[in-house]
Amino acid sequence: MTGGQDADGPRSTGEIASYHAHIYYDPATTRPEAERLRNWIGERFSVTLGRWHDVKVGPHDQAMYQVAFAREIFPEFVPWLMLNHGRLSVLVHPNTTNPRRDHLDDPIWIGPALAVRAEKLPEHAEMEPAPAPNTHPVHRP
Ligand code: ZN
Repeated sequence: MTGGQDADGPRSTGEIASYHAHIYYDPATTRPEAERLRNWIGERFSVTLGRWHDVKVGPHDQAMYQVAFAREIFPEFVPWLMLNHGRLSVLVHPNTTNPRRDHLDDPIWIGPALAVRAEKLPEHAEMEPAPAPNTHPVHRP
C-alpha cells in the first residue's frame, strides 16, 4: 500500500495542505460588512487576504474574497468566523489534490450555503501550501 494506508480506510488529514475561507457578499448591500470582517480578520489572524472579486469568478456564484490559511490557524480562526460572519455566507474548504471534492463534497458552510459551479472545478491539482501571510495581527482573537 502506498502511503501506508488501507484503500478502504479513512482518509488522512495529511492530505490537507492548507485551507481557504471564501467570504461572500452582495456588492449592493453587504459589502460594508465584508469590509469590516476583513479588517477584523487582518487585525487578528496570520492569514493571506485575497483580492476583492466584486463580480463572480471561477466556481463562485457570488462576489467574494478569499482568505488562505495554514492548518495551524484553523482551530482559532474557523470558530471565530462562526461567531463573527454576521449575515455573510462563508465557505471553508480544505486544499487537497482534488479541488472539486474540496469545494463540493467536503467543505464547511458558515451561514446559508450558496451555489458552487462544479464545472469550473478540476478534479486534480497540485498540493497548495498556505502562502506567506500578508496580515499583521495586533489583537488576540
Ligand atoms: Zn478556495
